[in-house]
Amino acid sequence: MNTFSRLVVLGSGWGGFELVRKMTEARMLDVTMVSPRNYFVFTPLLASTCVGTLEFRSVTEPIRKTLQRNQYIQASCESVDLSTKLLNCRPAFEETADATSLFTIPYDKLVISVGSVSNTFNIPGVHEHALFLKNIGDARRIRHRVLDCFERAMFPGLSSKEKESLLHFCIVGGGPTGIEFSAELHDLINEDLSRLFPQLMECVRITVYDVAKRILGGFDASLAEYAARKFSRQKIEVVTGMAVNSVTEDGLVLGNGEFVGARLIVWATGLAPSQLIANMEGVLKDAKSGRLLTDDHLRVLDQFGKPINDVYALGDCATIKDNDLPCTAQVAKQKAKYLRSLLSKPSPSNTLPFRYKYAGSMAYIGGWKAIVDLPLKETKVMIRPRGWIAWLFWRSAYFSMAVSWRNKVLIPMYWFLTWIFGRDTSKF
Ligand SMILES: Cc1cc2nc3c(=O)[nH]c(=O)nc-3n(C[C@H](O)[C@H](O)[C@H](O)COP(=O)(O)OP(=O)(O)OC[C@H]3O[C@@H](n4cnc5c(N)ncnc54)[C@H](O)[C@@H]3O)c2cc1C
Repeated sequence: MNTFSRLVVLGSGWGGFELVRKMTEARMLDVTMVSPRNYFVFTPLLASTCVGTLEFRSVTEPIRKTLQRNQYIQASCESVDLSTKLLNCRPAFEETADATSLFTIPYDKLVISVGSVSNTFNIPGVHEHALFLKNIGDARRIRHRVLDCFERAMFPGLSSKEKESLLHFCIVGGGPTGIEFSAELHDLINEDLSRLFPQLMECVRITVYDVAKRILGGFDASLAEYAARKFSRQKIEVVTGMAVNSVTEDGLVLGNGEFVGARLIVWATGLAPSQLIANMEGVLKDAKSGRLLTDDHLRVLDQFGKPINDVYALGDCATIKDNDLPCTAQVAKQKAKYLRSLLSKPSPSNTLPFRYKYAGSMAYIGGWKAIVDLPLKETKVMIRPRGWIAWLFWRSAYFSMAVSWRNKVLIPMYWFLTWIFGRDTSKF
């Protein structure tokens, strides 16, 4: 069994977390994880926490519990010195954000799995006024804003135009994240807020904007059409082929010049490389996405296209040269499992290259309905359930994928509580 002098893993997301999760079993005792976030987020259920279907802590896993005897340092890596094998890091505490707090961490082997950031495409106002949906902090802000809009709309003396603007919820991006959030928001409004604020219901609107010709581009067209039909029945408006030109505090300006009033704008479109990846030198990056390029053993390629031994990258921050895979948890997790096995071998270069196995896609579309795109085992045949059967499948799949027993108890418990008592609408 191989042991390393020091394996440093950057990031506690799908890639980093899955990699270190079972490393204790592999007796790789000298693992250090560096991440500003001391927990893992189960992102497929993040949209449910934005509206209170689930509580925030039911979709997180504390890193220290997972790492056990391995090390964790709460810091952000700011640059990698590939020649000296040193990482320049900054503690991830608010009070130590000054330059003097920088420190270095040496590594023998490095795994970069720092994810990505939301892409604003340099559209004016997005950064300042839109809300993103990438982590727990974002979900908390969205939940607060939705409830805030309803409470504000109850203020005496507001005109119906002001109420309509406050209660117009805009989602930019018709991919799975934008669609699932819209669906969850619809459930919150339809099942809970309609009872608490009946007088406001005629002013409420949910609109999804996408520059593409159709929503859910990664799904089969028949499933996407089904979702669009369900949305139209649920009075969620879908506007496709429409760009957003700018975002202000009170709304957004569309590609056709029209101004649309809204207090909540959720920006769920596009990914961009994080600062660390954008600033990294001496390595090859994908020209279009800016992601690190690796070989099929997940080794980062240097500027001449040669793999750098002992530096690996996976997850949203990297892609395999000539084999671009989507930025999903599924890909990150499979790569992490592959790398864990590769790193435990005495001669990693003899290992077979990474091969991705598509395990299907799912999306919740509201009103206890979902769509599922599923390959039948060992065949090229796809099955495509939709509606409540797909919803049952969606829930069971995510329940079974929850990592800890604690969350395997909490998740169904919150689903049950929401069903019986409704969602908690306290704003804090
Ligand atoms: C709302 C939502 C729903 C999703 N649903 C699905 C789904 O249903 N199915 C699916 O397959 N995929 C889904 N995804 C996509 C999936 O979550 C990502 O593809 C996956 O998280 C990528 O894993 P990662 O490890 O690369 O990055 P992340 O999971 O984003 O983790 C990145 C980690 O790196 C840390 N980090 C950042 N910068 C630094 C730094 N400089 N130094 C050290 N650490 C750093 C972060 O704190 C974080 O811990 C969803 C994503 C979102 C946002």
